[in-house]
Amino acid sequence: MHNCIDMCIVRNHAHPEVPAVTLSVSALAPVPAPAPAPSLLRRLLDPMVDPATFDFWAQKLHATWSWNRTLARVVAHRAEAEDAVTLVLQPNGHWQGFRPGQHLNVSAEVDGHRVTRSYSLTDVPRRDGRIAITVKRVDGGRLSTHLCQRTRVGDVLELGPAFGEMTLPAPVQGRWLFLAAGSGITPLMALTRQLAAQDMPVDLTLVYWARTRAEFCFAQELRSLAQRFPRLRLHFVLTHEGAQRPDEREGFISAELLTALCGGLADRQVLACGPGGFVETARTLTAGSARSFMAEGFTPPAPTATAGEAITVQVSLARSGRTVSVSSGTSLLEALEAQGLNPPSGCRMGVCHTCVCQRHSGTTFDTLSGERNAEPDMAVRLCVSRACTDLSLDL
Ligand SMILES: Cc1cc2nc3c(=O)[nH]c(=O)nc-3n(C[C@H](O)[C@H](O)[C@H](O)COP(=O)(O)OP(=O)(O)OC[C@H]3O[C@@H](n4cnc5c(N)ncnc54)[C@H](O)[C@@H]3O)c2cc1C
Repeated sequence: MHNCIDMCIVRNHAHPEVPAVTLSVSALAPVPAPAPAPSLLRRLLDPMVDPATFDFWAQKLHATWSWNRTLARVVAHRAEAEDAVTLVLQPNGHWQGFRPGQHLNVSAEVDGHRVTRSYSLTDVPRRDGRIAITVKRVDGGRLSTHLCQRTRVGDVLELGPAFGEMTLPAPVQGRWLFLAAGSGITPLMALTRQLAAQDMPVDLTLVYWARTRAEFCFAQELRSLAQRFPRLRLHFVLTHEGAQRPDEREGFISAELLTALCGGLADRQVLACGPGGFVETARTLTAGSARSFMAEGFTPPAPTATAGEAITVQVSLARSGRTVSVSSGTSLLEALEAQGLNPPSGCRMGVCHTCVCQRHSGTTFDTLSGERNAEPDMAVRLCVSRACTDLSLDL
């Protein structure tokens, strides 16, 4: 039931008498900083302004001007590692800020369709308001390929609000262990930079896995931080190439490797990020020994249960008046997309809640919790829900 993707779990492994704190799905809903109150003029004009028309004309004057959308201009696009780029973005005034460790949804038009995915913010908040994401290109991946290969300085992307709870407490204390695999380094890089900006007030061990040396992002910066701060211990671990440098090791995550690199885990607060399988292994290996564990996975876990044999059902879309036939064997989000529809979506794994919509009637199956629900007028996450019967959705 403890699923790293839709839940962040903070557990006191070393002191089981201390109750575990479980942050539920709803706790992971986007938690933007409070929005600045709209000006009096804006409030007066709001009922009279058609946002699409405003944006059309405003963007003739400035590419990121918008009545209500968070748009950002790409101000730098640099190679970060093999098949990975860092995009530095200058958002417009609708951006509400973030805390290191959080993520955001990024949307762009790819081949005539709007595509949205989640990316972690890799920098700390800056005075000039610029933010950065680092994107690893996934083979055949729609948005990652677009951002890595086709996006240019001056292009405009749409952003959602920051979300996610894998942030550091203030003040930060104790001993920390960051476990990163592949693009899972991104939120942990933001947290490492945050600690570096505070002159590394805690002991931190960062263990970072990649298939090959060329795939390590931020390698030079991490090494110079490790030289500058003796309290930062850094290990690069290669899974498909031999280790050569003193800070390199080989092998997949294992109890032996963690013991060799970190010693005892008893007083460690562990943050892990990477593919779903990596995060689950990290959780298992540290259970019972680490002081606490919190994780975020970038790929969905295997569903906890199946919804039974796939059938074809009718989904009526209340707002558009359309009815489409979809298979119950795939998520509602994928099924609707396959019908040419483009409902709002983000992380595609139940975390960001962008795809939540009202189910007026019918039964759905939540692939993460394994629960069926038939209560009318309930909110469902399209990306992790499947249809069990004919449905009516507020789309
Ligand atoms: C909270 C969160 C934060 C994230 N932060 C980052 C980040 O900072 N940097 C980053 O590069 N990515 C990050 N991701 C992953 C990112 O959202 C996308 O999933 C990824 O860029 C692939 O999107 P795509 O449109 O290119 O691929 P799609 O077109 O969605 O998928 C194409 C194929 O690739 C597979 N696939 C999808 N995602 C992955 C993946 N991550 N690894 C391996 N195979 C995959 C799919 O199964 C599919 O077969 C994050 C994901 C989440 C949920």
